[in-house]
Amino acid sequence: MRIDLHTHSCASDGTDDPSALVRIAAQAGLDVVALTDHDTTAGWAAAAEALPAGLSLVRGAEFSCLSVDGQGKSLSVHLLAYLFDPEHPAVLAEQRRLRQERRERLLRMATRLADDGYPVDPTAFLGRLPADLPVGRPHLARALVEEGVASSVNEVFVKLLHSSSPYYLPRADTPVRRAIEMITAAGGVCVFAHPFARSRGRVVEPSTIEELADAGLAGVEVDHPDHAPEDRAALRGLADELGLIVTGSSDYHGANKSIRIGAETTDPDAYHRLVEKARAITVLG
Ligand code: AMP
Ligand code: FE
Ligand code: FE
Ligand code: ZN
Repeated sequence: MRIDLHTHSCASDGTDDPSALVRIAAQAGLDVVALTDHDTTAGWAAAAEALPAGLSLVRGAEFSCLSVDGQGKSLSVHLLAYLFDPEHPAVLAEQRRLRQERRERLLRMATRLADDGYPVDPTAFLGRLPADLPVGRPHLARALVEEGVASSVNEVFVKLLHSSSPYYLPRADTPVRRAIEMITAAGGVCVFAHPFARSRGRVVEPSTIEELADAGLAGVEVDHPDHAPEDRAALRGLADELGLIVTGSSDYHGANKSIRIGAETTDPDAYHRLVEKARAITVLG
């Protein structure tokens, strides 16, 4: 049984549409695939509809959340949430709050740019973006490209919108403990995504993972392309100590990353333990 519990479609920052993703998963010989787009469940329906015979779909999402590093400094972490009810009132309310926060943040970033003479009318720019869209820096970058400020979205990021830029403002993401409580209340299970992916920057301390285990965290992603062998070993030991489920996954992003679907996998026993923990929604297929 081959199980990949972390993939992205074009519902977030992957390149395959959800129906293509499940076909590719089946062609790669997977028995189970989880669709875990960033901060959205928008791809679930299309993936379920296109599901090939013999492939099971775990409906999930990867939420960006707030935590702290060893110095107590704010740290953005990723939480994989599986099999939760996307219509649960707490989940809907939090997504509404995040969308609203994102609009206010982008308005303030656009205002800073306009104040420095960049060609953007903050109110008009926000007005053009649909109210239910989780707006972000890519939207602002695109608007600046259209105004001729740079020739690509990436160039705008490099010049103006990177996280140390004076025009940058942090997002008011959900504190990771609160996200775990919310997903658990909505019948789902949570796995800490690539906790020791040091190539991406600062990472959490083992003591934080221990605290989150107490708050209901079900597992940790150990086998991930961004984890060094010694970090995998340390995480496996920690998971053992804390009774956390160990997962492995590719974090496939289609053509946006070179990793292939199914390049890292989850042990069937671990998968079954996760599914048993999720009570409200069941696996399709
Ligand atoms: P935000 O959520 O508003 O902070 O924006 C973050 C998003 O910007 C990420 O999800 C990335 O997909 C995107 N992003 C980050 N850096 C770049 C870049 N250099 N070029 C294009 N998109 C980027
Ligand atoms: Fe991504
Ligand atoms: Fe991630
Ligand atoms: Zn991911």
